Amino acid sequence: MMNLAISTTSTAFGTFSVFDGIPEVFRSGEPIDFLLNLDGPAAFVLDQGHAQTRVVSCLLHGNESSGLTAVARTFQQGPHSPHANMIYLVGNVRAAKAGVAYFMHRLIDLPMGQLEFRDMNRIWHAEAPIGALAFTESFKRLLAGRSVEAVLDLHNTSGHNPPHGVTLPGDPESLMLAGHLVDQVMTLQLGTGFMGAMRVYAPSVLIECGKMGLLESDVTACRILEKFLMSDLSQKKRPQQLYHTRATVYLDPTVELRLGGKPERAREMSLRVDLERFNLNTPHGRLYVGTYHGDAFPLRIGGDFEMDIIFDHDGSGHIWLKAGYTIAMATLNESNIRRSCLFFLLTKKS
Ligand SMILES: [Zn+2]
Repeated sequence: MMNLAISTTSTAFGTFSVFDGIPEVFRSGEPIDFLLNLDGPAAFVLDQGHAQTRVVSCLLHGNESSGLTAVARTFQQGPHSPHANMIYLVGNVRAAKAGVAYFMHRLIDLPMGQLEFRDMNRIWHAEAPIGALAFTESFKRLLAGRSVEAVLDLHNTSGHNPPHGVTLPGDPESLMLAGHLVDQVMTLQLGTGFMGAMRVYAPSVLIECGKMGLLESDVTACRILEKFLMSDLSQKKRPQQLYHTRATVYLDPTVELRLGGKPERAREMSLRVDLERFNLNTPHGRLYVGTYHGDAFPLRIGGDFEMDIIFDHDGSGHIWLKAGYTIAMATLNESNIRRSCLFFLLTKKS
């Protein structure tokens, strides 16, 4: 295509293009047109003479397409806010284009030794490698001299989760922003992520719009983006339910995983098949998680908890999460479980 960008920068994620306004090719309403017409991340700057600017980002993870779908629809139907100038960031286009079909890859693998830097939502800190900094610093330059009012970062989860917000702990202003957009919010320490980095400029919230690839998640993203554009954010709005993330629960890497049924081999764990149903859906009593076969407990925990405070287990290897806890981001996707975690452990804040 003819390059209409007002600036381009070579980065670890491909060419970062900055557009003044929205070129016609991105107004079709189709998310695919962003992949066909971009080589890397892109920012669209929409100045309308307002004192403040709102920022929206999507596709920081290449397989989480609901945010991009919402941005594409909005570019077709009305990308402006009556309250603020807008900057839209479309993130990991290269990852979204990689593979045999679009939106298959969360990120693009780098050679061994650079694994921690490949995730576009983990590179927003000063020690990131040069190619990643070329991207994050160029984006931050767009915000220089602006009064940023609010930041919205749109994501999907790999398992079923109700739509919910994620903010940094101890951040009441971002919580009030989230209250305009969703009913449920969890706090999570995500300092190297986009939302955490943007908190320096303005209240910032990451919204998980639901499971990736589902039509209902796209609809949710569209609804949330519209609220973000139209709401008077100077009004305080508290979300209905707040959760604090207390710990992260991992599967021991030496444990084999099966979905449902009875574990038979040594060091095998059978996970309950409807575990995702309990994401941000607090059970009344204790929650059966699964059954394991072997001597050593199959789960590991990151955070300031002892295993026995959180889990019950019996002589037959059944494992329950004790009452009073809520889980989030639980997934049955084994590669996600192994690369990331089994679930986050939350407590309700009344
Ligand atoms: Zn994500």
